[in-house]
Amino acid sequence: MRYHDSTIDLHTHTTASDGAFTPEALVERARSKGITHLAITDHDTTLGIARAMARAKQDDLLGQIQIIPGVEISTSFKTVQIHIAGLFIDPDCEVMKRFVERQLSLRKWRAEEMGRKLEGAGFPHIYEEITEGLPEGSIVTRGNFARYIYEKGKAKSFEDAFNRYLRRGRVGYVNSQWMDIQEAVEIIHQAGGIAVLAHPRRYEITNGRLRTLITYFREAGGEAMEVAACQMKPSDRDFMATLCVQYGLLGSAGSDFHHEGSFRELGWNLSIPGKVTPVFEEPRFKGRFEVIPGMNSGRGTAI
Ligand code: AMP
Ligand code: MN
Ligand code: MN
Ligand code: MN
Repeated sequence: MRYHDSTIDLHTHTTASDGAFTPEALVERARSKGITHLAITDHDTTLGIARAMARAKQDDLLGQIQIIPGVEISTSFKTVQIHIAGLFIDPDCEVMKRFVERQLSLRKWRAEEMGRKLEGAGFPHIYEEITEGLPEGSIVTRGNFARYIYEKGKAKSFEDAFNRYLRRGRVGYVNSQWMDIQEAVEIIHQAGGIAVLAHPRRYEITNGRLRTLITYFREAGGEAMEVAACQMKPSDRDFMATLCVQYGLLGSAGSDFHHEGSFRELGWNLSIPGKVTPVFEEPRFKGRFEVIPGMNSGRGTAI
């Protein structure tokens, strides 16, 4: 079902991590879908931001779309992998540069290790083929491996590729201990950004555990939580909105768009329930969103 398109999409990926679109192509697609505010939030890297911003400043798009520099940081909360997005970060500050460098070497080691394991499972040269043509410094995640396996016809879907080869206990799985949530929030803050708990509904945890997670994130200084995503049911949005209000968090919304044909699209179903204050309406952060004609939160009111 498709309802309430928003022109604001605060969670997307490019080829700098596991997205299929180059930063330029993503910006072009976003504009063609009517997006006025697009956050680039690649996994553990800021590499795609400069190219996306440069594309948005070219004559044909000038003044039509604001690129919000972001990042999606991988963290570990006990045994669960939790993603913390940062919005309005400064990609050029020392803290962020050091973070990106460190994650790149960790990710490179892990992806090479995954490649070696999958070679043994019938995928010769998988790592070389995945990284061929990618700009130096791109992050390779399990998402890249899933796409490759699917495109080789060895899985019926990305989900199937995860189930067969990539999830914990499968041949291509390499365990990694990511940083603590507190550290991720701190890095985002030191880079001048807003910390957002990404896709809270996607973690396979009980509601009680989710509350523990939100409490921990809040105490670490996190400001917002994603309450809207393309495929999220209204009842789930409402529950997430209730949690936002209870824990004093702002609401964010993002498609987490990676590629075509995934039941996710830029701007789809991203309206934020009325009881939550969206990050772009909170006085502290509102000024960071440029006023662009057509900007609409999807709540039915132009802002
Ligand atoms: P990694 O950070 O290397 O563990 O890879 C995580 C990425 O893989 C996520 O950002 C998604 O893009 C993708 N992913 C994770 N789980 C699934 C799944 N079950 N089906 C499809 N893609 C997934
Ligand atoms: Mn991904
Ligand atoms: Mn994520
Ligand atoms: Mn994401």
